[in-house]
Amino acid sequence: MTKKALSREKPILMEELDTGFKFEVTEEPGGENIKRCFACGTCTVVCPVFSVNDQYNPRKIIRMILFGLKEEVLKSNFIWLCSGCYSCYELCPRDVKITRLMAAVRNIAVREGHIPKPMELIVGLIEKFGRILEVSEFENIVRSKKGMPELDLTIPELRKVLKRTRIHDVIKSSDIDE
Ligand code: SF4
Ligand code: SF4
Repeated sequence: MTKKALSREKPILMEELDTGFKFEVTEEPGGENIKRCFACGTCTVVCPVFSVNDQYNPRKIIRMILFGLKEEVLKSNFIWLCSGCYSCYELCPRDVKITRLMAAVRNIAVREGHIPKPMELIVGLIEKFGRILEVSEFENIVRSKKGMPELDLTIPELRKVLKRTRIHDVIKSSDIDE
């Protein structure tokens, strides 16, 4: 699916473009600097995800947004591949803040009902542990031996917040299966 999404087999047609998409992204917190990108490719070169999966190409995703390929970007699963490592964030010569930009694009995608269904697993972990990793008493024992504070394993407020987002309903009705 990712491969298909980033390698177009058909030409880009003007009538398919949403030229207002870039403005929508600049108005989303985190997306403010997207128009600064001058396509140098530094983000792609340093991206650890790109190094193992060349279908995830931040420079190309930014171009697609600037062109106005809104549906193609929002309905893809490649915007979900960013690991949030901040390598590109540190090195971008135009301060595009790509890590935050990708989060902004994902936020728009979710609002429009596009989220990969496997994200339900991650949402479940966050609901249960407050994190995307399982946390148990074992971690707290290890932490206390190292003089670190215990992690709070009860997170009722977070569950309430997640419930209010109705994230499970969005995932169930999403059109992204993988
Ligand atoms: S490093 Fe910055 S300026 Fe260069 S392509 Fe990436 S986002 Fe654009
Ligand atoms: S923050 Fe995302 S886009 Fe940037 S280098 Fe890391 S994985 Fe790649």
